[in-house]
Amino acid sequence: MAPTLRTPTERTCERCGRIEVWEEEAGTWRLAVDESGTPQTVGSPYCIHEWDINGTFVPFEGGALEA
Ligand SMILES: [Zn+2]
Repeated sequence: MAPTLRTPTERTCERCGRIEVWEEEAGTWRLAVDESGTPQTVGSPYCIHEWDINGTFVPFEGGALEA
């Protein structure tokens, strides 16, 4: 039986569309590539990535500026 996947292994940036996958062996996120090694969606290198992973991300730390 397949256990429920709790740890996200793929994430997509809601801003630029970049797709990354979790590299277990390296312990880091890497750009998702297809079978031929071509990046699927690179996105923008200048983007402040906002990852769509089960709403666990924190948009900003320290609180927002209030008038
Ligand atoms: Zn992005």
